[in-house]
Amino acid sequence: MTSTDLCTDTLCVTGNPEYKSFDSTGAVSVPIYQSATFAHPELGKSTGFDYSRLKNPTRDYLEKLVASLDRAEYGFAFNCGMAAITALFDTFESGTHVICSDDLYGGTERLFNTIGKKLGLETTYVDTSDLENIKNASKSNTKIIYIETPGNPLMKITDIKKTADYAHSHGMILIVDNTFLTPYLQQPLLLGADVVVQSGTKYLCGHNDTLAGFVTTNNKQIAENLEFVTKTTGSALPPFDCYLAIRGIKTLAVRVERQCENAQKIVDALAKNKHITKILYPGLKESKGYEVNKSQAKGNGSMISFYVDSVQTVERVLKSVKIIHFAESLGGVDTLITYPATQTHADVPENERNERGITDKLLRLSVGIENADDLIHDLTKALEENNYESI
Ligand SMILES: *Cc1c(COP(=O)(O)O)cnc(C)c1O
Repeated sequence: MTSTDLCTDTLCVTGNPEYKSFDSTGAVSVPIYQSATFAHPELGKSTGFDYSRLKNPTRDYLEKLVASLDRAEYGFAFNCGMAAITALFDTFESGTHVICSDDLYGGTERLFNTIGKKLGLETTYVDTSDLENIKNASKSNTKIIYIETPGNPLMKITDIKKTADYAHSHGMILIVDNTFLTPYLQQPLLLGADVVVQSGTKYLCGHNDTLAGFVTTNNKQIAENLEFVTKTTGSALPPFDCYLAIRGIKTLAVRVERQCENAQKIVDALAKNKHITKILYPGLKESKGYEVNKSQAKGNGSMISFYVDSVQTVERVLKSVKIIHFAESLGGVDTLITYPATQTHADVPENERNERGITDKLLRLSVGIENADDLIHDLTKALEENNYESI
């Protein structure tokens, strides 16, 4: 049986069956090979492992596992999502023009605008949910389209297949940051994307305890370039963190199922709340990206953004939530609430932030696996005026 025959939820648990035997002990859990170097049997011979910056058995297993989830031939594990994106940057040629989603993770935007600029990359941000905007931004040196769908934090949906077709007919490649939906809900390579990048810190590791980042691709040249960057710059994920990532991925499918279920219940409850003025969630039928997301993803995810009626409500909610943590990050078993204006998107200038809709009344929720009723109670209580006496 090859990995392509297996469903993603099975692969999460079993790993890639073509890549099973690590040692002769029959260990069901992948061992942590905490070794910096590996001895050679004789001159000119190698066990396949020489030095852990280049290749480590625990990491090798994880990389093949994540590649199998994404239906990719090649996978790379880095010490966080930003390190994964940076490694990709290091493979771009100076003078390359990149078209990016304007609804992008704040850290990626910072990377493009600072270090990317120094490396000679030119970036244009457009609303990629409309292909016309991509066409209009294209130039003779445009080689890369870089998108997130759903976007962050405005949940804009970009049509992966259409964007990939456009990219390929113009000699460009499409990179998709798939952090929000994970390979369990969305598989961009099968829709035509050339590269998938994701922050494993979020859903894949899933417990808010480990940083990790992944790149997967079927493009041999990109894979060779990434292998060179990994070897040369040394940002690959260490063995113990690889072990935690492998363990996290085992429960990815059940966690995501529960998180999506909880998210839908919370959206239904928030829709009735008088302090909420608008909800951004791809599962809302009236949302712009509903149909496209439905056509390319298996679910709506568990990220919800919403506008409240005033900054006072924002302050009240962030101060009053009891079981929901006011913290950055997302995707873990714990529900987190984030204030993009001062957290994830603090580096975006205020007028630009407001123009884009990342106002001081916007909150973002990453829904965990707690009981949905408790989460709804916590949120609705925190939204109420004069809630302090009652707590
Ligand atoms: C968190 C995140 C990143 C960066 O990942 P780290 O693991 O925090 O370095 C990149 N893209 C998206 C969409 C993210 O949410």
